[in-house]
Amino acid sequence: MEKAAGYPEAESYQLEEPDWLAKLNSLYTEENLSLIRDYLIVHGVMDNADSLDRECYEWKKEYDNTVKGLVGERSDELVISNIITGTLKWPVARLYCEKYLSEADKDRISGLIDEIIAEYHGIIEEADFLKDETKAAAIEKLEAIDKHVLWPDDWSKYDSKDLEITSAADGGTLWEAKKAIVRFDMDDSIREYSEPVDKDLWTFVPNTFNCGYDPQSNSIWIFGAFARGNIYNAEMDDEDLYARLGTVIGHEISHAFDSAGAQFDKDGNMKQWWTDEDWAAFRERNEKLNAYYKAIHPWEGQDLAENKTGEACADMGGIKCMLRMAAKKDGFDYDRFFRSYADLWMEKGTLTMSYVYFNNEHPLPYLRVNCVLQQYDKFLDLYGIKEGDRMYLAPEDRVNIW
Ligand SMILES: [Zn+2]
Repeated sequence: MEKAAGYPEAESYQLEEPDWLAKLNSLYTEENLSLIRDYLIVHGVMDNADSLDRECYEWKKEYDNTVKGLVGERSDELVISNIITGTLKWPVARLYCEKYLSEADKDRISGLIDEIIAEYHGIIEEADFLKDETKAAAIEKLEAIDKHVLWPDDWSKYDSKDLEITSAADGGTLWEAKKAIVRFDMDDSIREYSEPVDKDLWTFVPNTFNCGYDPQSNSIWIFGAFARGNIYNAEMDDEDLYARLGTVIGHEISHAFDSAGAQFDKDGNMKQWWTDEDWAAFRERNEKLNAYYKAIHPWEGQDLAENKTGEACADMGGIKCMLRMAAKKDGFDYDRFFRSYADLWMEKGTLTMSYVYFNNEHPLPYLRVNCVLQQYDKFLDLYGIKEGDRMYLAPEDRVNIW
């Protein structure tokens, strides 16, 4: 099948779900062929009915509403804009960047990342559970972190000028256009396949609302759509900037040194760069952090299912970094900073939504504020939180890794 699509033959394949393939093999028999064909036709039509013609589109909409229990309908304009942003991802991304993002913001955020990385030197150097040898390797990794800010510097990799779509005026249809785009994307992926891995390649478009750290390329990604509105804007003062985008950047850098990221070296290879003794001390700190979150029950009888170590470590690292930077600013308003940080994570949701967090590595939003801030004297002292108060955490009970 891969060969028929145009992919070159591979030396080896990574089979992620062997049981699935074994089951498929047992079903893929001569007598089942016509059933398999019918299945593919029915599902092919169902999946694509809304791209065929108006009648099929209306029929599919009615079917979806019935099956999903929905009422109402989306305007043609919204439907078409969703189709376009979902299929012509890169041309739309480029328009988005030109319209909503600026070089000045790219430079400012890039500078902020450099400042945060520089501040991290101090955090690593002052980590009393590490010997000099491990600290030196950590700093080497820190300095090698690559950054991708708002949009790709080289747009030529995402060029779609060879994509040919026939306009409606010339007899083209939505269905033909979608097929042309799928073929174009596939050819692109086949071309990439035979080339060396490009660790700079953006796999998400800049109009994605997210940020990330990728351990396999030791790089952080701040997508353009994330650095907007109340998370970042050019008019923000330092209190808001540090509390919002600043803590997020610090969070992503901390992922390079959390329980998963720490297993990768500065080149993104899974390799042990810690001394045995320091690794054991790091593991111990992670276990203490995990135990702290595991002991929390949002309400009676409700456990937090997933291990939160990586995300909690990153949250605490992000705040610590910003507190260090704030300490260098005259007249920094910590009250505004802490309130702004709390506001960043304020969320109103349904009970069902909170179940998503139980089975996900991210702590519930209120824990991202309460458990993180109580690790630091600056917060406890500012609000006069003392032993016996529920937010108080004694120095020996604190669980921040860095
Ligand atoms: Zn994270």
